[in-house]
Amino acid sequence: MSRIHPGPSVVSEALRPSSTIDASSSCPEGMLETGRRHYQVCTRCVMDTSDPDIVFDDRGVCNHCHTFDRVTSKHWHPGPEGRVLLDGLVARVRESGQNQEYDCILGLSGGVDSSYLALKVKKLGLRPLVMHVDAGWNSELAVSNIEKIVKYCEYELYTHVMDWEEMRDLQLAYLRAGVANQDVPQDHAFSSSLYHFAVMNNIKTVLSGGNIATEGIFPVAWHGSAMDAINLKAIHRSYGCLSLRKFKTISFTQYYLWYPLVKKMKTLRPLNYIPYNRADAMAELERAVGWRSYGRKHGESLFTRFFQNYYLPTKFGYDKRRPHLSSMINSGQISRAGAMKSLEEPLYPPRELETDLHYFCKKVGINRDEFENIVAQPNRHYRDFPTWDRKYQLLKKTQALVERLTGRTYNVYS
Ligand SMILES: [Zn+2]
Repeated sequence: MSRIHPGPSVVSEALRPSSTIDASSSCPEGMLETGRRHYQVCTRCVMDTSDPDIVFDDRGVCNHCHTFDRVTSKHWHPGPEGRVLLDGLVARVRESGQNQEYDCILGLSGGVDSSYLALKVKKLGLRPLVMHVDAGWNSELAVSNIEKIVKYCEYELYTHVMDWEEMRDLQLAYLRAGVANQDVPQDHAFSSSLYHFAVMNNIKTVLSGGNIATEGIFPVAWHGSAMDAINLKAIHRSYGCLSLRKFKTISFTQYYLWYPLVKKMKTLRPLNYIPYNRADAMAELERAVGWRSYGRKHGESLFTRFFQNYYLPTKFGYDKRRPHLSSMINSGQISRAGAMKSLEEPLYPPRELETDLHYFCKKVGINRDEFENIVAQPNRHYRDFPTWDRKYQLLKKTQALVERLTGRTYNVYS
């Protein structure tokens, strides 16, 4: 969530939604003609030309795989050295939280990553303030899983309930704006609540379930950062009806300067220091805690499930399973053949889609015709609205200048 995605201002061109791609097609793989660009899928992972920026080498291996080898893998420590690094980091977290009730804060959504992290943090002997942000879309199973984790780990849970009328207004504004990332209102709410609450409680370390093993690959052209409050406010100004009085955002200055440099806050991603395997993590959660699987990624939020499996592939041709499976191929958790087989499964069983569609419309207060009319409007890019991208570029230039002058490297933000 903390990533900047400064991708070019384009959307996928005339590409079929990946869910409709037939892996057993008689056309040679990687050479299927679709509109102005040849359809091509990486020969090592399953990223394809639904990423408009993707490029392939002469062996058909994509830039995401090369970036994983060259850059991302340097921050991934699943071997024994990871444990040593993690022990060092944990010791520092404990030290920073000495004489305080909590030494870190952990956001618990009930999904696999944050649930497993909660379990690991207990074993690491940290004392987290555990927070859940209820944006109105929790599945019943998510609520039950959160209760089980908290009870098992003997954590106290703080639940922050978002003002539903404001959330609804913001989500409808995003829908009307026709941008790809409809998850921004939820994601921004989760992070901003967590950071504001950490500051209120003088907590310096934010624990994140973000991890390279299952999320190391993501096409930056698909959408911008959920933390970009300038973009969020601009979209709401254009299409919202209410004023956002209770919805707290994080500003650019807070996010990149105030929290890390003045408040000395750091984000720690412990799952990058252990051999994190999604299937093993779910098995351990089920065995130890009685946690139950959602059957699909992000099943903890009814909105995210609907958005990722219907809106995004149908309207934009983006199938989020692709970067997720590609990350797992590169981190050695699944084979490419296994990933291709997963992609053959339907994104939505028809009856489940009908139920979710009905629920979504009822919950946000629009009828089916209105929904279909809104979704049929032209796709927009997040850069059609003001963004913080220019500020970010200026920050990076300043950082490079300071580094040249001082000869030191500064990690402005994790
Ligand atoms: Zn690849």
